[in-house]
Amino acid sequence: MTQITNTNHELAKQLRESRLSKTIQHFIGGQWVDSQSGATFDTHSPVDNTFLAKIASGDAHDIDRAAKAAHDAFQTWREVGGQERKKILHRVADLIEKRSQEIAVLESTDTGQAIRFMKSAATRGAENFRFFADLAPSAADGQSLPTTGFLNYTMRQPIGPVGVITPWNTPFMLSTWKIAPALAAGCTVVHKPAEWSPVSATLLAEIMDEAGLPGGVHNLVHGFGESAGKSLTEHPLIKAVAFVGETTTGSHIMRQGADTLKRVHFELGGKNPVVVFDDADLDKALDAVVFMIYSLNGERCTSSSRVLIQEGIYDEFTRRIAERASHIRVGDPLDPETEIGPLVHPRHFEKVMSYFDKAREEGATIAAGGERVGETGNFVRPTLFTQARNDMRIAQEEIFGPVLTAIPFKDEADALHLANDVAYGLAGYLWTNDLTRAHRFAQGLEAGMIWVNSENVRHLPTPFGGVKNSGIGRDGGDYSFEFYMETKNIAISLGTHKTAKLGVKKE
Ligand code: NAD
Repeated sequence: MTQITNTNHELAKQLRESRLSKTIQHFIGGQWVDSQSGATFDTHSPVDNTFLAKIASGDAHDIDRAAKAAHDAFQTWREVGGQERKKILHRVADLIEKRSQEIAVLESTDTGQAIRFMKSAATRGAENFRFFADLAPSAADGQSLPTTGFLNYTMRQPIGPVGVITPWNTPFMLSTWKIAPALAAGCTVVHKPAEWSPVSATLLAEIMDEAGLPGGVHNLVHGFGESAGKSLTEHPLIKAVAFVGETTTGSHIMRQGADTLKRVHFELGGKNPVVVFDDADLDKALDAVVFMIYSLNGERCTSSSRVLIQEGIYDEFTRRIAERASHIRVGDPLDPETEIGPLVHPRHFEKVMSYFDKAREEGATIAAGGERVGETGNFVRPTLFTQARNDMRIAQEEIFGPVLTAIPFKDEADALHLANDVAYGLAGYLWTNDLTRAHRFAQGLEAGMIWVNSENVRHLPTPFGGVKNSGIGRDGGDYSFEFYMETKNIAISLGTHKTAKLGVKKE
């Protein structure tokens, strides 16, 4: 692969020499600190798997320190007025915007995601903070529920210190999506980012500190899932855990949090169908299908990784997908022309590559890709499997790479059966120009989010989340506050009701 030097490379070089040359620490109680044990781990560049940075590796001691700091800070943060929280969170958004280039380059360097998508991910991070900043003053609002003799009113109060555990695919943006509503609600946070892409979380902590967030309100502990992550989910001072990651990890967290009765919110895996009927605008559908599986390296929970295509158009439509896939530019993630960068980690690369053999063994055809690109790094060619059946592993399992499985269907009933015949239920995409079918099909599809004649376009007040093995709970808009806050009912007697008298001596 040819190396083109551009401003992104210059910035990446500077960041490697400055920020990444020192051990990346935890941020606890407003201080940058090493692990109590002194332990560290290394993170590597997905481009060539060479050393990128040394990271403090947290364990139960560091989590305990962070949980206590979050607990102490909660007593004051919960009393800070909504207007003041709004101001601080807007300042966070301003600083994210100001440093968006640095965030994008760092994220690209650590995750392998193409810079063209990481720039918009940084901007989305700022939007998340702005959106929840504006809602902070009304987060506690409740209902008035009067009845005879009583005035009932509800209010919401922050649940307490919360744990936020995030995955490696688009870590900066996903962290803001969880942390911004928690802070707007009045909760304090202990964040445990993924060990495969930990560096941008440090930038977020720095930005929040600079924006004036009091010490202890946001804490960051790096480390592995089975140590730092597990301790966070078990800690008695942590009242809720917002988790984004794999379905099996979600099950572990539910078990780990059982003794302390953790409230959990899970955003898990997906094997999302995109259903293309023969009456659809096929040019637009093609753009959306290609975008939703091959953007973000296919490392995206809402990727449309199964395309169900009506029989009559199957051959031509898959031919067009294969043609597009073969022209996708795979390469250096810092090159603005690159469309797919390297996968995050050699272990993930091996997992994705293993599905090429599985596809062959199961009798599917590899119509595009199905091989690595280059001899070093974690680069995979965008792949299309055709002649696939829905019961094959390539149609049932989340591959989480730039790999699409195409399955033909006969009619609407067949399409709905295939779309729902999977353990997951995060998102579904539907392409048809038949209005009544669109509504009927969307209502029958087992998924938390459905887009009709569109790729995933987010509107922040709408509920985000999945059904079946794809998750528990929703966030977005007010749905996020339902998770981070407790609803309290206060009943006030107007003094007119009669209270039953017990133990009164009979005359
Ligand atoms: P993962 O489950 O392996 O790890 C996610 C986080 O959990 C990491 O920080 C990890 O350290 C931590 N963890 C692991 N074991 C733990 C334990 N026992 N206790 C506590 N924490 C633990 O997921 P990943 O491989 O980092 O991310 C990819 C997955 O994330 C995919 O399945 C993808 O679909 C999912 N994802 C879902 C959404 C969504 O919104 N539904 C969004 C992005 C990613």
